[in-house]
Amino acid sequence: MSQALAAVQASIAAAESRAGRPIGSVTLVAVSKTQPWEHVAPVLAAGQKVFGENRVQEAMERWGGRREGLELRLIGPLQTNKTREAVGFFDVIETVDRDRLARVLADEIQRAGKAPRLYVQVNTGEEPQKAGIVPAEADDFVAACRKTYGLTIEGLMCIPPVDADPAPHFAGLRAIAARNGVEKLSMGMSDDFETAIAEGATSVRVGSAIFGRRDYALEPKV
Ligand SMILES: *Cc1c(COP(=O)(O)O)cnc(C)c1O
Repeated sequence: MSQALAAVQASIAAAESRAGRPIGSVTLVAVSKTQPWEHVAPVLAAGQKVFGENRVQEAMERWGGRREGLELRLIGPLQTNKTREAVGFFDVIETVDRDRLARVLADEIQRAGKAPRLYVQVNTGEEPQKAGIVPAEADDFVAACRKTYGLTIEGLMCIPPVDADPAPHFAGLRAIAARNGVEKLSMGMSDDFETAIAEGATSVRVGSAIFGRRDYALEPKV
């Protein structure tokens, strides 16, 4: 696992340099969801500090006792009834995608006196089964997050359709970010993170290329 981590780090550095971007400018989010601990431990021991998880409960159980010095990101859909726990636990929530969630997040942030960094998830492929705001509503949604709910939106996130060329989706996300003054772009996974870096990703979410194939029986249904 730590060899795979090193290989992914090297590929990221190569993609950064091909894109004329500074080495180290892209954050690697190691997606540890559903992985057994014996796959995660060597990656943690190798110095990886940023991890992505899909589910609030699973993340809290896994990372609750060893949170110190790590950055934990929620990259799966957030139910409003888990918002309090998510605000308390995560450093970054990448899946803000609807008004009701934005409103509940704003309330919980106020209550907790602590704000995770927030990303808006955009459903660039407009897939009915996928979470995220559709591109045509993204500008209004980002504006509402800011003005109506008083949230700071650090970035945008997308998951392109599995069978599509991801590059236009990444470029589309970058365009939405640029016209809304949003700085960060979370895009790119095991199969396409180099393309994402060429298109301006500031963080990539890589799971199976580091940890090996997941047990699909444990995968959340999207
Ligand atoms: C599982 C997951 C990933 C990682 O996928 P890999 O293909 O294993 O790299 C990235 N982003 C999200 C939102 C995920 O759910």
